[in-house]
Order: sequence, then structure tokens, then C-alpha cells
Amino acid sequence: KGSLVVVGSGIKTVGHLTQEALAWIKGADKVLYVVTDPVAEGVIQRLNPEKAESLAVFYEEGKLRRETYEKMVERMIECVHAGLRTCAVYYGHPGVFAYPTHTAIRRLRKQGYEAFMLPGISAEDCLFAELGVDPGSPGCQSYEATTFVTAGFVPNPKAVLILWQVGVFGHMDYSRTHYELREIPLFVEYLSRFYSPDHEVCVYESAIFPGCKPRADWVPIRDLTKVQLTPASTLYVPASERPTPDLELCKRLGMAVR
Ligand code: SAH
Repeated sequence: KGSLVVVGSGIKTVGHLTQEALAWIKGADKVLYVVTDPVAEGVIQRLNPEKAESLAVFYEEGKLRRETYEKMVERMIECVHAGLRTCAVYYGHPGVFAYPTHTAIRRLRKQGYEAFMLPGISAEDCLFAELGVDPGSPGCQSYEATTFVTAGFVPNPKAVLILWQVGVFGHMDYSRTHYELREIPLFVEYLSRFYSPDHEVCVYESAIFPGCKPRADWVPIRDLTKVQLTPASTLYVPASERPTPDLELCKRLGMAVR
């Protein structure tokens, strides 16, 4: 009977593939992958030659990402229905900002198939390491940039804020070449409701090849219109206020407050 395991290839594929991900890729009857660079593709192809197939063929210029994702889900399910032990490999953590993987697992489980996910190293994990950010100190909020604005999410300036997909802000379609980011002023305007336009934020891009340095460009929020944002950019917004303890609650918890 067919089954689905979803694994991540990490951001730096050569070093970030976990031992368990490697084993599942090697042992699969079918490997379906979505990775962003040719080195990663080569690694996966070599791990299981002949059985590896890219799902990136479903990306088409100007096509809605939602439609591409649905096609990926259908292909994963098709392979499982054909009786194949299928391994899907997505870059980063395969369940972080990755709609098709969660959807395929949910649908297959409903149909009585075995389907599960293994964690991987996400862009956010790299950010914590490379920018020296601890999500537990004081706390961390993480949103998709467009949804953050359109859903009207209110950030807490006492915690760290991480915004994903800032380089495709306002775009629901796919483009191989570039996105015209005419909408960034609106993004800046929205952030400025909660932070001073002088607040320094970081445009972060983790290097995908070993030995390369990450991009970490610090700019005040108002200048975000002037920096280059790419589909690989993640925005790190440090806390702008200090958390203040609720003295009453601390007392009730028996905690000493200094
Ligand atoms: N599953 C991936 C995320 C896919 S969504 C993961 O676990 O990381 C795509 C978004 O991830 C990008 O818009 C960007 O915000 C972030 N991202 C992907 N590659 C990145 C990189 N090399 N450096 C920083 N952020 C990255």
C-alpha cells in the first residue's frame, strides 16, 4: 500500500538534510521535490536516481500560487494511490509556510493511508542562529507578510516580529524573474502604525551554499521602500519596547520582582 512521508531539505541542503530525511529519500519508491537551487536538486537526484521528480514544473509564470499548490497535492496523492512509498521533499522545514504538504497529509489520512511529516531546518531557524535572536527572549511572533497586513494582525512591540514572504508582498501569483513591489509603501505604512519609522529592521537572507555569508541589511522601517527585497527575504523586526512585569500577577506566583 502506498504511503507519504514529507521531509525537509533545510536551507543549506548539503548540511541540513537530517539522517532520517536521507534514509527516507533513499528508500522511497518515488521522490517528489520542491527545492530552490540546482545543488539541492543534484543532491536529491543522486540519493535516489530515476525515482526523483521535481514538483517545480507546476510553477508557471503568472499562475496563482494556490493553483500550483493544488497540482502538487494532486501529484503526491496520485503516487500514493498508485501504491508507491512516496517521499516528498520541500526546502526548509516542509511544514513551515508550505500549504501543499499539510493538505496532502490531511487528505491521505482521511482516505486511510499512512501519511506523516518530519521536521526540517527552516529559514527562521537559520535566522535565530545567524542574527543571534532567541525566540524565547522575550517572545516571538511570526506571520506571512501579506496576511499580516490584510488580516490586520496587531503585533506586540514587546516581542520579536518575523515577517515571511516580504519580497512577494501583495502578490498571489508566481514569477520566476522578479516581482514589482509597488505595494511596499503600503507595507511600510502598516508597520508604521505600530513602530516608529526610525525603528531599525533587518532584511535577512540565509546563504544557501556552505561557506557563504548570509545577507543581513539593517534599515529604518521608512527606508524599506529603497532596499532590494527578493522571494528569499525574511524581515526581522526587533522588539521596540521592553516587557514590563505585571507586579500583581508576579506576587501571586510568588516571584520576586526586581
Ligand atoms: N519551508 C520554508 C519556507 C517557505 S516560504 C522554510 O521552512 O524556511 C518562503 C519564505 O521563506 C520566503 O519568502 C522567505 O521569507 C523565507 N525564506 C526562504 N529561503 C530563505 C533564505 N535563504 N533566507 C531567509 N529567508 C528565507
